[in-house]
Amino acid sequence: MTADPILETRGLTKEFKGFVAVNNVNLKIQRGTIHALIGPNGAGKTTVFNLLTKFLPPTGGTILYKGEDITRDNPADVARRGIIRSFQISAVFPNLSVLENVRLALQQKLGTSFHFWKSEKSLDTLNDAALAILDRVGLRSFSHTHAGELAYGRKRTLEIATTLAMEPELMLLDEPTAGMGHEDVDRVRDLIQEVAKGRTVLMVEHNMSVVSGICDTITVLQRGAVLAEGPYAEVSANPQVIEAYMGT
Ligand code: ADP
Repeated sequence: MTADPILETRGLTKEFKGFVAVNNVNLKIQRGTIHALIGPNGAGKTTVFNLLTKFLPPTGGTILYKGEDITRDNPADVARRGIIRSFQISAVFPNLSVLENVRLALQQKLGTSFHFWKSEKSLDTLNDAALAILDRVGLRSFSHTHAGELAYGRKRTLEIATTLAMEPELMLLDEPTAGMGHEDVDRVRDLIQEVAKGRTVLMVEHNMSVVSGICDTITVLQRGAVLAEGPYAEVSANPQVIEAYMGT
């Protein structure tokens, strides 16, 4: 695979009142790969996600997307570029059906498209597009179920469906399998691998069977800095990584 970073950070730093949560991080996320960000609690993973999606401004460094400096973008700019973070369960509307939730995400994506809304077929088109996404993630038979009534694993799958509706080029998934039983983990792992086709995925993930199974590259963060980076076999054999995970 030739190196073609879709996203790159150079010296990315975030300081909270003197506490350095993200310390001079250089990341290269290669286009078309699944890249995992791992590390012990407090390592800075969530802060990195918040910096990439511009929920937080960095205190140092730059972020490049397809070679363009996006460090000063706002969250809407970043989303328009195709960098989409998974919606969390808290963003799923529990009293709306599964189908309605995906339709809303599609509407958000199409919201500004006057030509789309002018067309008489717009509502049918929207419905069909939402059903196609539900087919893809295996939730079609739950189309009319209230999202709030879904079992936990399926709720999290709905998060992936609503994220897909935003047509991400770079999809950021925040612990997509956290709290799931084996069966759901396997299902969501396969789903991520499937939806990653034709796009790039950056995920924070604790489950090492998921990381080793589907991720091309792993970046290990510790105390805000990159401790190791590479394919799973290499990173998991790194004595510093082993030590960090043993908590010694
Ligand atoms: P992780 O996601 O790897 O568990 P976080 O990015 O949530 O780590 O946090 C990294 C460090 O930054 C932690 O020590 C956390 O307490 C600190 N931190 C995160 N957000 C803030 C904030 N808004 N103000 C002060 N400290 C913060």
